[in-house]
Parts: sequence; structure tokens; C-alpha cells
Amino acid sequence: MSIAILSLGSNLGQREEHIATALALLSERAGDVLSVSSPYYSEAMGYISKHEFCNVCAKLSTELKPLDLLRITQNIELDMGRVKDAKGSISDRIIDVDILFYDDITLISETLTLPHPRWSERPFVTEPLKELV
Ligand code: ADP
Ligand code: MG
Repeated sequence: MSIAILSLGSNLGQREEHIATALALLSERAGDVLSVSSPYYSEAMGYISKHEFCNVCAKLSTELKPLDLLRITQNIELDMGRVKDAKGSISDRIIDVDILFYDDITLISETLTLPHPRWSERPFVTEPLKELV
């Protein structure tokens, strides 16, 4: 059993509902959601958007290996209707699920970097994260 810390974000539509749906799908497909931070609201970072973000951090216990967990989180994004823009571009999204940490694993692969490479620069990650530790 491993512990993964996730960041979930949304800036379109019923943001809190989208995050709740993603958390419910994670409990169905990935493991037990052990705790969830309160929501953190902030302007888009890295691009200009008129839609404010809502983000939470969540703690998950899982039997899935890191790359299997990434596949599940990406399928949840797609199943919820996230539309991906061109590779590398940041854009408005119904739901984003990032893996911040997976136990104490460090990993750099084509599709997954652990810990998440930009977690410490993002107040929408660092602030809610404080509530989980
Ligand atoms: P972002 O979350 O940076 O706005 P995306 O959700 O579109 O952008 O993710 C871009 C890519 O980041 C994904 O295709 C995924 O393979 C890669 N990635 C690398 N490390 C991680 C991680 N720790 N968690 C989630 N995605 C990651
Ligand atoms: Mg992402």
C-alpha cells in the first residue's frame, strides 16, 4: 500500500462539483481518499484567463504503481470531458489531477515526474498541502 498526494483543480463550470466527482472516481478506481484539504481559490497561473481556479490537495492510499495511477488520473480527466490543447500549452480545464508525491519515490520518465516538478512554486499547491500534513 502506498500513499499518493494529489492536486486537483478546476476553473470551468461547477468547480467544486467537478473536484468532488473526480474524488469519487478516484475512490472507485484508485484507492481510498484518506483526506482532502479545503478549497483554495486563485487566478490562473502561467496564462491569462477570466476563469478563477479552485484547487484542493488530497491524500490517497493505493495499490496502484505510479504509472498505473497516472493512467487512471488521466482517464478520469478524459471521462469528465477535459479537452486537451496543443502539447505544452496551459488552458482552462474542467478538471486537472496531478500527482504531487508518491511515497518518497523520485522518478523522471517521459510521462511522469515525481515529485511533481513545479509543486513548490505553486501557492495553490503549497497552501492546501499544509492542511494534509
Ligand atoms: P498541467 O497539469 O501541467 O497543466 P497536463 O495536465 O496537460 O498539464 O499534464 C501534462 C503532462 O504532464 C501529462 O501528459 C503527464 O504525462 C505529465 N506529467 C509529468 N509528471 C506528472 C505528474 N507528477 N502528475 C501529473 N502529470 C504529470
Ligand atoms: Mg495535469
